[in-house]
Amino acid sequence: MSNNNLRIIPLGGLGEVGKNMMAYEFGENILIVDVGLMFPENDMLGIDYIIPDIQYLLDKRQWVRGIVVTHGHEDHTGAITHFLEQINAPIYATPLTRGLLEVKLARSGLINKAQLITVNAGETVQIGPFQVEFFHVCHSIPDSVGLGITTPAGLVIHSGDYKFDHTPIDNWPTDYAKLAELAGRGVLALLADSTNAERHGWTPSERVIDPAFDEVFRTASGRIIVASFASLISRMQQVGNVAERYGRKMAFAGASMVENAKMARKLGYLDLPDELVVPIDQALKLKPKDIVLMSTGTQGEPTSIMGRLSTGTNRQFDIVPGDTVVLSSHPIPGNEESVYRTINRLFRLGADVIYEGIAPVHVSGHASQEEMKLLLHLVQPKYFIPIHGELHQLHQHAAIARQVGIPSDNIAVIENGQVVEFKDGKMQLGERVAGGYVFVDGASVGDIGPSVVREREALARDGFVLVNLTMDRNTSHLLGEPEIITRGFIYARNGDDLLSATRKLVNETVERNSSNGNLQGDLEQTLKSFLYNKTRRRPMVFITLSRA
Ligand SMILES: [Zn+2]
Ligand SMILES: [Zn+2]
Repeated sequence: MSNNNLRIIPLGGLGEVGKNMMAYEFGENILIVDVGLMFPENDMLGIDYIIPDIQYLLDKRQWVRGIVVTHGHEDHTGAITHFLEQINAPIYATPLTRGLLEVKLARSGLINKAQLITVNAGETVQIGPFQVEFFHVCHSIPDSVGLGITTPAGLVIHSGDYKFDHTPIDNWPTDYAKLAELAGRGVLALLADSTNAERHGWTPSERVIDPAFDEVFRTASGRIIVASFASLISRMQQVGNVAERYGRKMAFAGASMVENAKMARKLGYLDLPDELVVPIDQALKLKPKDIVLMSTGTQGEPTSIMGRLSTGTNRQFDIVPGDTVVLSSHPIPGNEESVYRTINRLFRLGADVIYEGIAPVHVSGHASQEEMKLLLHLVQPKYFIPIHGELHQLHQHAAIARQVGIPSDNIAVIENGQVVEFKDGKMQLGERVAGGYVFVDGASVGDIGPSVVREREALARDGFVLVNLTMDRNTSHLLGEPEIITRGFIYARNGDDLLSATRKLVNETVERNSSNGNLQGDLEQTLKSFLYNKTRRRPMVFITLSRA
């Protein structure tokens, strides 16, 4: 079942923030762009992360010619090991992105199986019928690229995550000339990042946070601990620069920070003098005012270094009064609660905490509205598909495209699984394919479905009621009183009346229905509605029945 239309199949990142993944299909050839993961929302209990559903690709795995990864963030790289376990194809990435992928692949033992190919920004590779041109874009990690993908059906531009920063930390702005050159050839479609489609104006340059850091280093009398993402190499550079200026030594805490910093320094993306960086155990022996530590844990994750520091459970060192903690990040939507809980705990331990709300210690890596307009003007695409964002962000991005003159009919606001086809230069919607969630829970992939998550939610919210019945096998009458156990549902002292009413109801229902084959199911339903009417809560109800 192949045809000569270009098919664009969003498998992640459209209708959500995270797990970005796009498939470009032409004939019996598929090019994958990005293989990301998404972190669960607070109420997805026990789920570590979520990866794209690649059901659609499994039947066509021999068509997959290559995987291009636009940059090293988890929402673009995080599912690579799960993907490679099922589909093996060459992976194309810039040097830093490749380095970050290697760290990940080595940890899961797949490094020998993976075929990694380095492509520098400005270079072109042929992947099946797709000619892919990598062009540099600014983002919050170095070595990010957007893609010009020449297909037999026309030229498509895939922006990746980008912003137009004129003064980036690595002095390497987005490649405007390449965008203009691609536009000159005529662009069939633009697929562009929608993350900040609701933000007016321009995203500030990464430089704007330098003065805030300078202020922190100028005034802090004790130790400084900066928390950030392990992949935020430019933040490491900024902290290193200011540490050098104020004569502090710098140390990295936590395996992912240490490994990423080492790799970025080796590849030349992080320029820190050898005498500036010391191992953490050595740093801890220095005077507090002579060191700055960098760690992970800006999102309130309990197992991260910052999370453990806030609860006094970190192995190597503790927060002490006089410490200054800088959370250099923006809480991912859904994480606000745990971030502020962490901040409160750090204050309680005597630290001074500086975070985005009170000082400009973080800027976004994504384009705002005016930059989106600039990209649309530069590229002048015939068709436009907003990507990377929840549905409201995709719609705002579409509105921006209409403002700059793209007709409504030439814009496709679509969610994961909705195929778009280009036939004879015209865009049309195709069929829907699987585009849902695969939950990863500890070691298990995909064993956990949405129903398990819903059950965990129900248990966490309203607890459970367990009813043990013992019946006379001959007479079908109850032997003794039903045993009722509750957990997380009612507070026992206030619950005595409810428990005896429940016991009475169980007795009556059993006596009335004892010959009914579905006694357990009926009793469960009866109890559920009874308990809901009494308490407005919906505990899970379990009935066990034994005959003696
Ligand atoms: Zn990114
Ligand atoms: Zn992203």
